[in-house]
Amino acid sequence: MSKEYYKVLGVEKNASQEEIKKAFRKLAHEHHPDKQSGNEAKFKEINEAYQVLGNEAKRKQYDQFGESAFRGQGFGGTGMNWEDFARAAQGGQGGFHSGGINIDMDDLGDLFGGLGDIFGFSSRGSRRQSRGSDIQTELKIEFNEAIFGAEKEVSLYRATYCRKCSGNGAEPGTPIETCQTCKGSGHVMQNQRTILGNFSVRSTCGDCHGDGKKASKKCTQCHGAGLEKETASLKITIPAGIDNGQMIKLSGQGEAVGNGMAGDLYIKVIVKPDERFERDGDNIYTQSNITFSQAALGDKITVPTVDGEVALKIPSGTRSGQTFKLKGKGATKLHGRGRGDQFVKINLETPQKLSRAQRKLFEELLRYDNEK
Ligand SMILES: [Zn+2]
Ligand SMILES: [Zn+2]
Repeated sequence: MSKEYYKVLGVEKNASQEEIKKAFRKLAHEHHPDKQSGNEAKFKEINEAYQVLGNEAKRKQYDQFGESAFRGQGFGGTGMNWEDFARAAQGGQGGFHSGGINIDMDDLGDLFGGLGDIFGFSSRGSRRQSRGSDIQTELKIEFNEAIFGAEKEVSLYRATYCRKCSGNGAEPGTPIETCQTCKGSGHVMQNQRTILGNFSVRSTCGDCHGDGKKASKKCTQCHGAGLEKETASLKITIPAGIDNGQMIKLSGQGEAVGNGMAGDLYIKVIVKPDERFERDGDNIYTQSNITFSQAALGDKITVPTVDGEVALKIPSGTRSGQTFKLKGKGATKLHGRGRGDQFVKINLETPQKLSRAQRKLFEELLRYDNEK
């Protein structure tokens, strides 16, 4: 299991949240792209690590599943980049959203203190960007569906945009007016006293939540919130090769929120066991029984695989416990090419009941063995 994120931040696996935050701030200062000694690639790496380890739920997931918990279907990188940050800063937001993770300006502290002047925003006095909650759910799939992939449906009860007003909170047919508090700008100026003197600081308008517009008559369905609950049925593509316990992330499919982005949906995949097969990574393990005579003389036996039954040639002189490989009969390699292998372990079956004829033959064999 990769523990790279801990290395990136230079902290122990059991580091406290406080230690992680401290390490992040120190490193972010050091590699800040605005600095002469800055290194944007390194800065991104640090951010990515912090976005996961700095969030207890995501950290737990990472500890358990590694980076793969954050990769795969729709699950590209969770890294934010410098452009994202600048954009968020220009938007006058006190925090920002990238790849499904919120960074609170407080986490960055005075690192961006100077930046506020450039972009006309301040971490203090501005509103933290709201974001809908993430939803986590489980999905049970068959053993073979994990090997070859599948299309599945997941049913969710979640907040979504109000269908009556399309989420704008206004009764259909009634006008949306310019917010009187901010005169449509979406933000208000506030005076702030600092040791360097008085500054005028821009913050989000509390009346219209930064929209600059307000409904003249609130939607009767959602009472102006712009949201309602729904039971949604989502089609999920299960990637071939997924394993028990792995996560699929669908960005923006979590809970919707009035003024901000919807949360993400995390689907934990539970693979039902198949009594014939045991899976370890990309390989599949099975067992087959053969008789003494098959072992001694050799034979062709039928073996179950995830592709159906296949014939396996048992050479003469096969020992109990011997393993044969069926190349390419394993699980599809997730995010890779090709498939793993199947390993068939041979068990020599000792007969429990002998017919008269069999007994005679075994007695003859025994006599022969003793004469040797
Ligand atoms: Zn306003
Ligand atoms: Zn509505």
